[in-house]
Amino acid sequence: MKKLQADVCVVAAGLSGLAASITCAEQGLKVITIEKAKVTGGAASMGMGPLGVETRQQRMKGVNLTADEAFLKLMHYTHWMGNARLIYDYLRKAGDTIAWLEDMGIEILFQGGTLYTPERMRAFAQPEQTQHTVAPVNGGKIGPRVAATMTKRMTERMQELGVELLLETPGKKVIMKDGKAAGVLATDANGEEIEIESKVVILACGGYSDNIQMIKDNLGFNWGEDLFSFRIPGNVGDGLKMAWECGAAKSRMTMELMYQIPDNLNHFDLEGAFRQPLLWVNKLGERFVPEDCIGNTATMGNCILNQPGHTCFTIMDSDTLKYYKKKGVDFPGVQGTEVFDHFDAAAAAAKEEGYKYYFEADTIEELCEKTGIKLAGLQETLEQYNNDCDFGRDTVFNKDYHFLRPVRKGPFYALQSFIGAYGTLGGVKVDWKFRCIDKDWEPIPGLYSVGTDCCDIYGDTYPFIMPGNTMAFCLSSGRLAGEHVAEYINQ
Ligand SMILES: Cc1cc2nc3c(=O)[nH]c(=O)nc-3n(C[C@H](O)[C@H](O)[C@H](O)COP(=O)(O)OP(=O)(O)OC[C@H]3O[C@@H](n4cnc5c(N)ncnc54)[C@H](O)[C@@H]3O)c2cc1C
Repeated sequence: MKKLQADVCVVAAGLSGLAASITCAEQGLKVITIEKAKVTGGAASMGMGPLGVETRQQRMKGVNLTADEAFLKLMHYTHWMGNARLIYDYLRKAGDTIAWLEDMGIEILFQGGTLYTPERMRAFAQPEQTQHTVAPVNGGKIGPRVAATMTKRMTERMQELGVELLLETPGKKVIMKDGKAAGVLATDANGEEIEIESKVVILACGGYSDNIQMIKDNLGFNWGEDLFSFRIPGNVGDGLKMAWECGAAKSRMTMELMYQIPDNLNHFDLEGAFRQPLLWVNKLGERFVPEDCIGNTATMGNCILNQPGHTCFTIMDSDTLKYYKKKGVDFPGVQGTEVFDHFDAAAAAAKEEGYKYYFEADTIEELCEKTGIKLAGLQETLEQYNNDCDFGRDTVFNKDYHFLRPVRKGPFYALQSFIGAYGTLGGVKVDWKFRCIDKDWEPIPGLYSVGTDCCDIYGDTYPFIMPGNTMAFCLSSGRLAGEHVAEYINQ
C-alpha cells in the first residue's frame, strides 16, 4: 500500500475543503487534499457567490450592516438555536473572506438592491443586502455557475502554496491512534489503497444530497416524489459517516429547503416566467398563499411542504401571458426582467422534451385533467378569484391589487412546483473551533469538520434575510478551522 505523510489531510476539495487547504498551507503546514471527483469545486461551482458583511463593495454602495447586527439578526431569526460563538466568529470572518478571495485574484461583485417584497412581509422576507457574486467571465450574465471561476482560482492558489492535490481519490476511513485522528485511508485513481498519515484530518465532504436513502432515513422525504433537490454527484454522506465512525456526535440534520421545478436548470426561463404573483393553487384547487409573498423561496418551500403531495401549480391565462410579454415581469428574480421574451422558446422546448411539469390546455376542465387538480375546487377558486380581480380586492389573502390578474381566457398555462433544496445541512457536531465532538461534548483530538457537513446554524429555515450564507459559511468554516488546526499542531 502506498503511504504518504502530511501535517494535515483535507478530505474533499469542494468549497470548504479548498478554503481549509489554502488556509492550512498559508499557516506553513504540509497539506495533502484528496478529492473523490475528477474536478474540484463541488456544489459551489454551480452557485453565484457568498454573503459578505462590512465589505469594501458594500461600503461603496452605502450598505452599512455590521457583523454585530448580522449576528443578532441571524440569532433572532433562528431563535438562538445555533452555536452563538461559532456563528459570531463566522460572521466576523465573512467580510474579510471576500477580501481574501480578491487578494487571490477573484473578482467579486456586489450589486446591492433587493427583490421586491410587499411592505407587510418585509420584516421577515426582505433580505439584507449581503449577497456578493463572483464576476462572470467574458462579460457574461450573473447567474448560476459563475462561482466556478472562484473554485478554479482557489484550486490554483492551493497548488501554488504547495498543497498536494489527489483527484479521483475518495477518502474511506479516518485512521485513529490512541484516541486521536492520525490519517486517512483512501483509494487512488487506479483503485489502489493509500494511507495518508497526518496529525490532523479535516472532513469537508459536502453532505449527502446524492444519497436518497440517507435523505429518506434522516429527513423523511422521498426524492423524485415529494422532493426534487439538487444532487451533487459524489456527495453521499461520506464526511458524516467517517466522523460518526470515529465517535463524533450527530448534529441537527436539515435541508436548505426552497421551492423549484424538477430539473430546473434546464428549464430556467420557464421557471422564472412562472415565479410571479399569479394564481397559485394546490392539488385541491385552493389558494394557499398570498402570491405576492413568493419572493422568499425558503419560506415558500415551507408553505408548499404544508400542501397535499408537497406540490402546487402556478396558473395564468392567455391575456396575462400577452400582458407579461409586452410589459415584462412583476418579480424579476435571477432570470431578469426579459424572461417572457424567451417564453415561447422555453415552452416549446419543454413540450418537445415531454417535460411532465408544464401544462397547456384550452379549457379549465382539460387543465384539471392534465394536472390532476380537483376540478370542483379550482372552479370555486376561480369564481371567487376572478370576481376579486374585477373588483380590485383580494378577499382571501389581500394580495396587492397590482397583481390581481384574472384567469379566464384560454389557452391556460400551468407549471407544477415542488419542494427543492440546494443541499443538505448538518450531521456532524462540532464546537466553535470546528473540532468534531463526541456525545459528551469532548473534542476528538485532530478531527475537524467544515462546510455543510457540520452546518446547523440556520434553525429550521434557510435565512434568506441574509443571502449567500451557505457559501460564506463553507468558506469561513474552512478558514477558521485552518487557523485552529495550526494552533493545535503548533502546540
Ligand atoms: C445550484 C446551486 C446553487 C447554489 N448557489 C449558491 C449561492 O449562490 N450562494 C451560496 O451561498 N450558496 C449556494 N449554494 C450552496 C453552496 O454551493 C454549497 O452549500 C457549498 O458549495 C457547500 O460546500 P461544501 O464544501 O460543504 O461542499 P461541496 O462544495 O459540495 O464540496 C464537497 C466535495 O466533497 C467531495 N467528496 C465527497 N465525498 C468525498 C470523499 N469520500 N473523499 C473525497 N472527496 C469527497 C465531492 O466530490 C465535492 O467535491 C448553491 C448550491 C447549488 C446546488
